[in-house]
Amino acid sequence: MKLSESGIGTMRINNLDEMYPAQDMLFQSGQLVQYASGIYGYNNIIMLVKRNLERIIEQELNKVGCIEIQLPTLQPDSIWKASGRFNKYVEDGVMFTVNSSDKGSLCLAPTAEEAVVEFAREKLKSYKHMPATYYQIGEKYRNEIRTRGYLLRGKSFLMMDAYSFDIDAEGLSNSYAKIREAYLNIAKRIGLNIIPVVADNGDMGGKRSEEFMLISPIGEDTILYDEESGVALNTEILEREDYEEYLEKEYGITDISKLKETKSIEVGHIFQLGTRYSQDMKANFIDKDGKEKPYYMGCYGIGVSRLVAAIYENSVIREADGKITGISLPKGIAPYKLQIIAKLDNEEKLNEANKLYELLQGKAILDDRENVSMGAKIKDCKILGTPYMAILGDKVESGEVELENTKTGEKQIVTIKEAVDIVNA
Ligand code: ATP
Ligand code: MG
Repeated sequence: MKLSESGIGTMRINNLDEMYPAQDMLFQSGQLVQYASGIYGYNNIIMLVKRNLERIIEQELNKVGCIEIQLPTLQPDSIWKASGRFNKYVEDGVMFTVNSSDKGSLCLAPTAEEAVVEFAREKLKSYKHMPATYYQIGEKYRNEIRTRGYLLRGKSFLMMDAYSFDIDAEGLSNSYAKIREAYLNIAKRIGLNIIPVVADNGDMGGKRSEEFMLISPIGEDTILYDEESGVALNTEILEREDYEEYLEKEYGITDISKLKETKSIEVGHIFQLGTRYSQDMKANFIDKDGKEKPYYMGCYGIGVSRLVAAIYENSVIREADGKITGISLPKGIAPYKLQIIAKLDNEEKLNEANKLYELLQGKAILDDRENVSMGAKIKDCKILGTPYMAILGDKVESGEVELENTKTGEKQIVTIKEAVDIVNA
């Protein structure tokens, strides 16, 4: 991206929110546009951050054999009535409904268990067709009352939702374990402190449910966690009368006295549903014995846009005195790895800057805006959030650049080729 053609002017950041400083930087730099509470437009960089996350999630789910599909987001209310969830979702005000008529209304999907059951019943007719896990990455709509924390809780947000279909509880348990493994790999690739936490399974009796939580002081959830053993649980569980039995039977957790309280953000949730939806929606398959039986299902979600905000807040650059100067995105997720700043009045430097830009093939931002000072360009680079900054100024010889790691502030003088290698490494 060339900044002269990007619609991005010079930026000034001020009055940053204490809780969500990255949010303010995203608004002030024009990367996020708010249309209404909980509804946002994404400019190029943050949109590409989201897409990179989607790619990581897709790759890891595909590796464990999940099948990517697309379900409709605009859905007939009949399927919600069939599962018995229509009234609850409408009464709670969570679901947006549109186009009411005598024939029923349409609604915008807050989640897609009903839609995927309809999808599966056409295909998974026999025990021979399972196991199967379908997933999609698509927009979801919930009329959240508290939309605090911008993308962390939106009314329109991107979710990866997966659904497993098995013939019995053992199969479900295997599918769940596979997807749990994929989630751990996704967390590893993102590189943040995301851990599985035992969650309440919502009165559905003896089945597993875990949330994937990012440990963070800005989180809305409270968990009990022991870093050494990795044991973690959502404090919501303690509200259950049978919590001791639930923890021991399903997770082998017997002693929670050592766990420490900490805040976290729920970025994912995996859930053994069992036959709850298939029974109500009469979605059956023919088993080996020739009898009709309901599917054993699991559902698995990742809040992709919530994760984008969590990553941005986690990437804020704070100087020793606590002053916030910008954002430095993790290299594995940043769409642009390097921002190039050149003095435009020096033709040689300008040519070298263009060469570096070309060599990085779409992975760099070139600040070629005229009438903007070097100082202002450096400030703007930090606000846009590339992990590296390259300056081609008076300080370096021809063929060299000053390369700065924007997270650590570490600087080195390297040749253009070395800069390319470091960025591509
Ligand atoms: P929460 O408790 O935070 O409201 P939830 O438990 O209702 O979330 P799920 O139905 O489990 O959410 O949805 C799967 C994932 O989608 C969540 O783990 C979360 O990361 C994300 N998510 C849910 N609601 C929102 C929202 N309003 N905005 C952004 N992401 C969301
Ligand atoms: Mg949840």
